[in-house]
Amino acid sequence: MTALFGPSGNSQSFYNEGHKSTTEAPEWLKKKGLDAFEYSFGRGVRIRESTAREIGGAFAKEGITLSVHAPYYINLASTEEDKKKNTIRYFTESVTAAHWMGATRVIFHPGAVGSEDRDTAYGRALEFFNEIIHEVKSLGYDEVHLCPETLGKINQLGTVEEVLKLCSLDRNIIPAIDFGHLHARTVGGIRTKDDYKKILDMMEDSLGDDRASRFHIHFSHIEYTKQGEKKHHDLKDEGFGPDFEPLAELMVKRNLEPTIICESPSMMAEDAKTMKEIYLKIKNGL
Ligand SMILES: [Zn+2]
Repeated sequence: MTALFGPSGNSQSFYNEGHKSTTEAPEWLKKKGLDAFEYSFGRGVRIRESTAREIGGAFAKEGITLSVHAPYYINLASTEEDKKKNTIRYFTESVTAAHWMGATRVIFHPGAVGSEDRDTAYGRALEFFNEIIHEVKSLGYDEVHLCPETLGKINQLGTVEEVLKLCSLDRNIIPAIDFGHLHARTVGGIRTKDDYKKILDMMEDSLGDDRASRFHIHFSHIEYTKQGEKKHHDLKDEGFGPDFEPLAELMVKRNLEPTIICESPSMMAEDAKTMKEIYLKIKNGL
């Protein structure tokens, strides 16, 4: 095993080259030397079983690892019954679609604090997530892991601590560490190798198993305000962080094998490739 690299969705260049369907993506990614792809259900899980299986088959054929992103509307802290019902449905639909596609990870946004204090909202989120874990388990698709993601706005639930605590509920839950989001919510807090070290150490202390090595990463450069995340940028846009190199050095030093998904807005495949090259250069001691 090794670290895996790939994009979230298709690059602009994929479409510019005349490609239309995601079933064409795996061969395109393979040629670029990439290993992973994240399929977005951000605006809702609208996919037929036959289409999902066709996409999954194409990725399996090229040996590209698939993950899916659950709808953005999920909110574990919501108090309204109909919203809670919808949240459960977003989870079961995402996990079912992931199963059809042969994807083993479902990435999701934990939610937002709202008008309450953070502890109250988080306490309720933790309780509700426990319920969701049971609901999802009853589907019987044990190969599919739920992955709570660290989020970029300060009023969102999704600090490293909050995500790790969600993961502590069940060994099947894997953290999705979005370093761009963490950089944004700490208003530029990821500058040095030490800043990355602290996060990786927290994961190791809290999880104490191979989830601290084979976790999920979202990586892109990000613009922020004092409320946190403003927008993602391609690597070529100058003046944004965080820097990938110190993380790559730690990945090599600590033998980490995460799946790294690049969420650049238009050059996600190209940027994933750049990050893979940085990583391999360090790994091979060049
Ligand atoms: Zn996300």
